[in-house]
Amino acid sequence: MSNIKYVSTRDKSISFTASQAILQGLSEDGGLFVPTEIPKFDKSLSDFAQMSYQETAYNVMKLFFTDYTEEELMKCINAAYDEKFDTKEIAPLHMADGAYYLELFHGKTIAFKDMALSILPHLMITAARKNNVKEDIVILTATSGDTGKAALAGFAGVEGTKIIVFYPKNGVSEIQERQMVTQTGDNTLVVGIHGNFDQAQTGVKMMFGDENLKKELADGGYRFSSANSINIGRLVPQIVYYVYSYATLLKRGAIKENEPINVTVPTGNFGNILAAFYAKNMGLPIAKLICASNENKVLYDFFESGKYDRNREFRLTSSPSMDILISSNLERLIYFIAGEDDSVNRTLMGALTKDGVYEITDSMKEKLKDFYGNYADEAETAEEIDHIYKESGYIIDPHTAVASKVYRKYKEESGDDKACVIASTASPYKFTRSVMKAIGKDDASKSDIELTDDLHAVSGVDLPSAITEIKSAPVIHDKECEVDKMQAVVKEFLGI
Ligand SMILES: *Cc1c(COP(=O)(O)O)cnc(C)c1O
Repeated sequence: MSNIKYVSTRDKSISFTASQAILQGLSEDGGLFVPTEIPKFDKSLSDFAQMSYQETAYNVMKLFFTDYTEEELMKCINAAYDEKFDTKEIAPLHMADGAYYLELFHGKTIAFKDMALSILPHLMITAARKNNVKEDIVILTATSGDTGKAALAGFAGVEGTKIIVFYPKNGVSEIQERQMVTQTGDNTLVVGIHGNFDQAQTGVKMMFGDENLKKELADGGYRFSSANSINIGRLVPQIVYYVYSYATLLKRGAIKENEPINVTVPTGNFGNILAAFYAKNMGLPIAKLICASNENKVLYDFFESGKYDRNREFRLTSSPSMDILISSNLERLIYFIAGEDDSVNRTLMGALTKDGVYEITDSMKEKLKDFYGNYADEAETAEEIDHIYKESGYIIDPHTAVASKVYRKYKEESGDDKACVIASTASPYKFTRSVMKAIGKDDASKSDIELTDDLHAVSGVDLPSAITEIKSAPVIHDKECEVDKMQAVVKEFLGI
């Protein structure tokens, strides 16, 4: 059995076991942890076609998390992928208009971050115990809406952890705020700050960097950790559903064993599509990796020109989780196509920090030929929702619609009609207003929450419990604070 280590993309001499890398999150030099090799499957694709989601998860994750025992991993997997999901399949595949929509929104918060955030807390607390960390883990998060709730839902009630989420009091949607303030679990705290998201994030970063606070925390029996999307403990669980979707197609007879498929992913931070790239390198027959952007099309321009340039206008769109100008996880791909040369990567990332721009060499660009990038603007996104609804009665959310539209562009340009899996990253119930507008059934007199009943009438899809619960659940968190009082709030909650 190989023993994979995790090294920093900016300094290969920094090396950890999987559990240590999960505990730490980000490398001290600012680099991201990457595995020293991408392991190959030790099961055939037809073996995978016989497996449950949980068994698939085990057979993928054990290859990366080599210092976890079978018992430890199975415990984490079973605690994560259970009745929290509203379907036994966990990640079902829905065919509509000639493509396969991989529904990654059947977890607690009806969006794809649940796929990784339901297991991360268990991986983390197991890692702590394995490495003789005696302190409880405190997760601090600043959120502009979605990630906060997914992290809360993942960590709520997990013994040995506490989670504190700060959000801009007047800067999130009605549904997002209700989702967070109704969060149960003694180990959770949700605080609305009198400021914007950037101030919340800056406040959290300052606490992470505060050595005095670190000492006080340690004296109280705590240590900070972070659940953000660059943690390798979030990336690896995302590989699983690509394997599972391929196996599902095989089981249904939609493809033959080893027949290549394409995958399309609506992309922001580049984590989800990077997981598909890892799956391909493990041996999953993926031909094209189609990277879909919204109007913040920094990745499209990168795949076109080889130049990554964040110096541009930031646009707010109907697919907010993709409104990103720095795709952090791209660094892992850059490191890979640089031939795992940490100094090349360090230079490029230095340029990104300093000037907001870097350019890769022709030989690096050559290694990106399995990627195809394109984007959908706001009008195209709405048209796509309407188109899929009219063709098949299926309703997709705006993020998924960006991917669906970009896939359509790819197919028309290339004539490539291989089976395609489209990552469907959010339930339409999470973006009811945009969706109802797109299909011409908006009612401006109704609130977003009221509109969910109209969507139900149109789609026939049951309201997910994430929606029914917030309609009646009591508000548990009503704490607010000024930006400069965030640290005091944390100390008070922890009793230190
Ligand atoms: C986070 C998110 C994305 C983007 O995924 P990345 O891994 O950041 O590229 C897309 N859609 C939804 C709904 C998301 O929450």
